[in-house]
Amino acid sequence: MSEQSRIVTGVGRGLRLRCPQCGEGHLFSGFLKVKGCEACGEDNTNYPSDDAPPYLTLFLIGHLIVPFMFWMDKAWAPAMWVMFAIWLPLIGGLSLAMLPFMKGATIGLAWANGVTRETARQ
Ligand SMILES: [Zn+2]
Repeated sequence: MSEQSRIVTGVGRGLRLRCPQCGEGHLFSGFLKVKGCEACGEDNTNYPSDDAPPYLTLFLIGHLIVPFMFWMDKAWAPAMWVMFAIWLPLIGGLSLAMLPFMKGATIGLAWANGVTRETARQ
């Protein structure tokens, strides 16, 4: 498998919340708790994700949602409480919804590049 296709495979399986090694087993045992694969035995807890998933989540949410916030403010100039009532739950909910997928993709990327907690420390 070429390095590029390994990255696509790892990130793709991570985005589907599956084990990057086999694509069958589940990556998480809870909301964000990484576990070993029940299908192939790969220890997925060995792959670090650290701050990357929340960073990616905020980066994507910011670029997807904030333009609509500005557009709504310009177009209709709603009261501030209306803006907060609409956008805070939407941004909070989308962030929580996207976070596991970003964490899966990050772990898949670490798997593809052979980055483990040991190699990341050096
Ligand atoms: Zn597996």
